[in-house]
Amino acid sequence: MEPVHESLPVDVRVPLDSIKAVRTFLAFNNIQYRVMIEDVQDLVNEERRWMVKYHAVSTDDFIYSNYHDLESIYSFMDMLVDENKRLVSKIVIGQSYEGRPLNVLKFSTGANRLGIWIDTGIHAREWVTQASAIWFAKKIVKDYRKSRTLKAILEKYDIFLEIVVNPDGYKYTHTTNRMWRKTRKPNPGSRCVGVDANRNWNAGFGGEVLLGELLLCCCCWDVNGPGSSRDPCAETYHGPSAHSEPEVKAIVDFVKSHGKLKAFVSIHSYSQMLLYPYGYKSTPAKDKAELDKVARKAITKLQSLYNTQYTYGSIIKVIYQASGGTIDWTYDQGIKYSYTFELRDTGRYGFILPAYQIVPTAEETWLALMAIMKHTKNNPY
Ligand SMILES: [Zn+2]
Repeated sequence: MEPVHESLPVDVRVPLDSIKAVRTFLAFNNIQYRVMIEDVQDLVNEERRWMVKYHAVSTDDFIYSNYHDLESIYSFMDMLVDENKRLVSKIVIGQSYEGRPLNVLKFSTGANRLGIWIDTGIHAREWVTQASAIWFAKKIVKDYRKSRTLKAILEKYDIFLEIVVNPDGYKYTHTTNRMWRKTRKPNPGSRCVGVDANRNWNAGFGGEVLLGELLLCCCCWDVNGPGSSRDPCAETYHGPSAHSEPEVKAIVDFVKSHGKLKAFVSIHSYSQMLLYPYGYKSTPAKDKAELDKVARKAITKLQSLYNTQYTYGSIIKVIYQASGGTIDWTYDQGIKYSYTFELRDTGRYGFILPAYQIVPTAEETWLALMAIMKHTKNNPY
């Protein structure tokens, strides 16, 4: 997600052959702008140079300060399970459109626990999210013995971590288009592929706000219009029906069959925000005061490490009206502590966040996650 709110700047990726038209449009409408990234491809090339193909033989050996392809992430999960059989298991909650397993790591110290869910990578190109989740997984097994708080959390709750919600999209960002966001299911009758999996949930599904799309001119193809879109070529295409995407349906089925998830955190990048419901309507969530208090506590912890500045609030207030989003659905299912993060940065590098920022991003985010999980533990409902 990128912010599209009247008080916030809009980041637009402009194809080379549209630059002139966009500059003219901006000048004509007296819209101020500055160039954040001269050439996105340069950044992508630079990132690729740093992505060494390295086969770790254990999770101690794994390079957390680098981005990894899908196969390496799958093998990381298997290694972590093998090394920590009493604490970690892998469950497969479904299959992606292209037939890849939808793996979830389960951290558990006993039977019949309540649950906390964390997911990353629902949008394929948000690489710092999947990379951070790998770090979280290792952090949990390392801290389990050391941290009394984490131990206390794991005495009551299982933690479920889905590192790659959208594996087909993630694969595609490595093989073909680094800036791919959506799923990879073809859309019948359209040349455009994929659905925005964060507009595919049954929470205000299909809501459109045309005004935003009109404002954002025809040439700026990378801007996510508010609401969602019925156009299969749009970055925010909501899909033919709610839960049409197998990657979304798998989580829906899991949430319903589990029945005892008490916190649900869905992690995106970029913008440095911590958000809570709602996105599809302006009615405040009934737990707004508490959600707000916990968000403030979480970002205070986050900022304490590297002074990374976050904003927080409800999705509709902080960013824009977004319908069919994950955490609106989970909140309406009764999961009170439903949050979405937008990790680093604020647009300097955007989705192509340099790899040296992975570990600091994960470290600071973990402090916020711990604050949310601790609050969940201390406030049973
Ligand atoms: Zn996203």
